[in-house]
Amino acid sequence: MISIVGCHNQTKTEPLYLDATAPVPERVEDLLKRMTLEEKVAQMCQYVGLDHMRQAEKDLSKEDMEKSDAQGFYPNLHSSDVERLVEQGMIGSFLHVVDVKEANYLQSLAQKSRLKIPLLIGIDAIHGTALVNGATVYPTPIGLASTWDTALVKKMSVETAKEMRATGATWTFTPNVDVAREARWGRVGETFGEDPFLVAEMGVAMIEGLQNTTHPDSFNVIACAKHLIAGSESVNGLNGAPTDLSERTIREVFLRPYKAAVDAGVFSVMTAHNELNGIACHADEWMMTDVLRNELGFEGFIVSDWMDIERLATRHFVAENQTEACYQTVKAGMDMHMHGPDFLEPIVELVQQNRLTEERINESLRRLLEAKFRLGLFENPYASETQTDAVLFNEAHQQTALEAAQKSIVLLKNEGRLLPLQKGQYKKVFVTGPNAHNETVLGDWAYQQPEENTITILEGLQQTDESARIDYLNVGNNPNDVTEKQVKEARLRAQKADLAIVVVGENSFRWDWNNKTCGENSARSDIKLGGLQQQLVEAVYASGTPTIVVLVNGRPLATEWIAENVPVVVEAWEPGSFGGKALAQILYGEVNPSAKLPISIPRSVGHQLAIYNHKPSHYFHKYVDAQSGPLFPFGHGLSYSDFIYQNLRLSKETISADESLMLKVEVTNTSDVAGEEVVQVYLNDKYCPVTRPVKELKAFRRIRLEAGETAQVTFTITPDMLQYLDKDFKPVIDEGEFTAMVGGSSADNNLLTIPFFVK
Ligand code: BGC
Repeated sequence: MISIVGCHNQTKTEPLYLDATAPVPERVEDLLKRMTLEEKVAQMCQYVGLDHMRQAEKDLSKEDMEKSDAQGFYPNLHSSDVERLVEQGMIGSFLHVVDVKEANYLQSLAQKSRLKIPLLIGIDAIHGTALVNGATVYPTPIGLASTWDTALVKKMSVETAKEMRATGATWTFTPNVDVAREARWGRVGETFGEDPFLVAEMGVAMIEGLQNTTHPDSFNVIACAKHLIAGSESVNGLNGAPTDLSERTIREVFLRPYKAAVDAGVFSVMTAHNELNGIACHADEWMMTDVLRNELGFEGFIVSDWMDIERLATRHFVAENQTEACYQTVKAGMDMHMHGPDFLEPIVELVQQNRLTEERINESLRRLLEAKFRLGLFENPYASETQTDAVLFNEAHQQTALEAAQKSIVLLKNEGRLLPLQKGQYKKVFVTGPNAHNETVLGDWAYQQPEENTITILEGLQQTDESARIDYLNVGNNPNDVTEKQVKEARLRAQKADLAIVVVGENSFRWDWNNKTCGENSARSDIKLGGLQQQLVEAVYASGTPTIVVLVNGRPLATEWIAENVPVVVEAWEPGSFGGKALAQILYGEVNPSAKLPISIPRSVGHQLAIYNHKPSHYFHKYVDAQSGPLFPFGHGLSYSDFIYQNLRLSKETISADESLMLKVEVTNTSDVAGEEVVQVYLNDKYCPVTRPVKELKAFRRIRLEAGETAQVTFTITPDMLQYLDKDFKPVIDEGEFTAMVGGSSADNNLLTIPFFVK
């Protein structure tokens, strides 16, 4: 294990690529010409971290490994082989190195290689670098999107980059800019929800926070927009299943966040597990090269997803063997293979056979080496081990995580203004539910954290109203394990209390893979509360004690009965390390809730897609067996303040297609508590040769208003906001009538409207 931390000492005799003062493109070319073909292809190879491999070596027999080959275990590949390969310069990158000592050790091995090319170490730092023990865990992205606060998301991303650097990682596989409109899919919590514009805004905030530094030539860490493309709307919501969507939907909905990410300079993109319209995404030359590179202008590198190059042969059956799979993916535009030994040799062979040119490999190399130079890894590949503890979970990061949690928890219903609770008002509080006292607040892509770093909902409540006597009924951690006996007991104990709080939802623990009901590879065929959770809520409610339901989950849950009967419903999502504290602060009015849904909540699984930006004919006919429309609409979220919108006006009634327009609205806080509101602007193009959504979010702003205060809020409607894709997918602006809509949610009865015309 190496402990030397320091810079490379440059002398005149050293090659140009080691000269930190030389321009990056020159350093890249200098290094490239010194490399053998094998060394070049090696830079395209990534392996999983040593600890991860050693764990598998310990836990799995040879037979298990063979059986689970598709999971990335190779019986003939040992961690010691991987160490040797690094020393030989035959590996360019690692993922899931969760310990700073291991990161530095691997870099020290790379420094023994002929050209001393440092390693790019990647990790799924999706909401903080939460796979690392002791890291700050922010709300999962669906919660971050609920804040509608791009500055805050940028701030937590800057902090995440610092925590990553402190543990030796320089590349994160985030943001996930999949537009999520299908709640059966388990990964909704990893996304920013259903609206392409909101997803794009959040994605860009993350990319800027993660990547940007004060110097244009350098990166904090590298971000990764994923997964190209549309795996969030695979058939039946199953992760990795085929997606069949029109080119129009792909371009209007799913591609928009990629355009924004590329414009923001995102330096890596990950392809998706699924096939799109019959073409496996990992072999989709149209998407990777024609669209992403040539049309959108992407200049960074593309990485495959876990085992998905292999699956071109073993799951999609578009390649007859691994060599063919490697050929197809690189030809389509792939730059790096995520994990495993079966890439280097096939690619070298393909070049030797002249099926791939060495120039094609050089193209990938230029991107990958540029990343390493811009990260400053050639100057110092090591993380300072003495700094790690001071950076991880430091006070400033804790504050941001708390603020993000406070702004991410959505108050869905507050009948009779049961909330905010007054301290001391309810002497005996009954608390139960599988998510009342566990780490599900941390969400997916988090490993277990030190107990003292996580505030569960129960702990938050205990700390916030110390005068209340809390009666906690533990029903276990797994939503599916609630028993009938516990349901009966809950009713009896609720009867004896002055207030009842039931915390239900999903289980997305990464370390409890077999019981997960939410998260990666955890699709559900239904989106009701799992197990006997619904019965638990009904029993507590039937006790007659005022009841609050708190949902902790990563996907929208169809809770129609709860929404109709229970007076208070709170959607906490997965609010991170300080989730329990933020939730209690909201219930007790120490914090005024201000989050808004970034995704519509459907009434049932069959009501999907329950999207707000549907086409005009979507609800032409109604269901015969149920009410149409969402249970809670996109953009909805209550506050303890009352906001009224008035006096919506435009600077002009008629504009030309290249003109901008000012839109003004007055928002007043008529209540006696200060609060924050997210003002939302939607547009509709009334008559158009191509059918257009009834409304599309085009702008939003989070504002703070003191009690009784009025603000004039101004937005600029720019020509690009009026564009649509014509029959040939060319962006054009239609002449005729448009409607601007402004309000505090996407629901029609919440919106002021005003027409304008383009001539
Ligand atoms: C996921 C990716 C993730 C990768 C590495 C895959 O299974 O789909 O989103 O980045 O694993 O952990």
